Amino acid sequence: EAITVQELANRMAEKGADLVKALFNMGMMVTVNQSIDADTAELLVEEFGHNLQRVSESDVDIDASVDVDPEETLQSRPPVVTIMGHVDHGKTSLLDALRGTDVVKGEAGGITQHIGAYQITTKDKQKLTFLDTPGHAAFTQMRARGANVTDIVVLVVAADDGIMPQTIEAIHHTKAAGVPMIVAITKSDKPEANPQKIRERLLEHEVIVEDMSGDVQDVEVSAKTGAGLDELIEKILLQAELMDLKARYDRDAEATVIEAKLDKGRGPVATVLVTRGTLKRGDTFVVGTESGRVRALVDDKGKQVKDAGPSVPVEVLGLGGVPQAGDVLTVVENEQRAREVAEYRQQQATAKRTATVAPNLEAMFAGLKSDVIEFPVVVKGDVQGSVEAINNALNNLSNDEIKVRILHSGVGAITESDVTLASASKAPIIGFNVRPNANARTQIERTKVELKYFDVIYHLTEEIAKEMAGELGPLR
Ligand code: GDP
Repeated sequence: EAITVQELANRMAEKGADLVKALFNMGMMVTVNQSIDADTAELLVEEFGHNLQRVSESDVDIDASVDVDPEETLQSRPPVVTIMGHVDHGKTSLLDALRGTDVVKGEAGGITQHIGAYQITTKDKQKLTFLDTPGHAAFTQMRARGANVTDIVVLVVAADDGIMPQTIEAIHHTKAAGVPMIVAITKSDKPEANPQKIRERLLEHEVIVEDMSGDVQDVEVSAKTGAGLDELIEKILLQAELMDLKARYDRDAEATVIEAKLDKGRGPVATVLVTRGTLKRGDTFVVGTESGRVRALVDDKGKQVKDAGPSVPVEVLGLGGVPQAGDVLTVVENEQRAREVAEYRQQQATAKRTATVAPNLEAMFAGLKSDVIEFPVVVKGDVQGSVEAINNALNNLSNDEIKVRILHSGVGAITESDVTLASASKAPIIGFNVRPNANARTQIERTKVELKYFDVIYHLTEEIAKEMAGELGPLR
């Protein structure tokens, strides 16, 4: 099991260069694109004060252990960006406006196709990929399935409004995923816009923009006038450069499914984002537990293309069935191998369903090795006062060995979004005088997220303290 320094840095949301420095101090000379072994990675994770998290087992990588691309084969790839924020704050408008800046858009007379993601090319020939399903539901659902395709999140906040519940949720989801964030203050053309107020309010949620001497980049934009769009693109590219995003182009492709559907005329269709290698027409592949052969590739301009490289979104035709968002597509040498892998994945999936069940605490801690164990929770309560009191009480339960990490807390019923977040981080949901709504209930059944109800704060802290102690016990 090996991981590149950059990948590890991304997962910890640290700078690759800082890891290289730390490794140097540990007596190791490596570059960000070189791989390090699991033990070294673990040391680094500890060094940076993070917790080691269990890697998802959902994806059975074919020969993953020996399948690391050598550093000299890697070339830079475009960043993949997701836009999040409160409803009506201008996510869709921003996505449309950004798409409008594409210098190659009109070239081939193609028509905009909404395939789940699009790529733009700047005047300087730089490329950026945007997922065009705005909002954090898609983002977190993908993550819950072990697919971290987003490199950078653009958090949208309307200059004439403020920090709203979904803004806060988006911040929490982004932080939980460890993905760097850029703040876009939208609707800056409006007379009542007050961007400075937004910057100040963000402080309360520990998002400190550069103006406030933090390190989160921010930019004022208007989807209406186009103001600030170039600057936003520049900032995304700058962030991408810091992350030194790279992939190997000349190899069999691996890709992640972003969307999939059964199309009346075309059969099963999946939009994938290539993570490494180049996907070509005629390739045989496995996707999730389905197999197939690429009959056609269609890009975001509705044009048939022969191939697609890293960070390029394309529709794939020629699937045996409809895969799920988050599934991994892997090109294999022949159909025989495709069937084997599909079968293997099917078995694994069944075994996993019977073995794991709930994101139980035992499994959660199995992979935690660093000194301070994190105990993630999602908290929902009936009134602001009790939510604050619960947060304080939970934080007080933390000690040198185990620390409560509140992924998200808020007032109101337990929603689908809470469940996806909890499931992605294998955390229980604590409900104080609140219940899940109907959609959330269905999802709880499906994801087997642990739900705990309380109506007395003291009972809540007692129970959580007990669980925390219990989990510490067998480990020591
Ligand atoms: P979403 O729900 O976050 O996707 O928000 P939309 O993109 O649908 O925008 C919500 C409303 O705000 C729409 O009526 C837009 O026309 C308007 N809007 C979005 N961006 C801007 C902007 O930059 N300036 C102005 N004046 N209005 C905007």
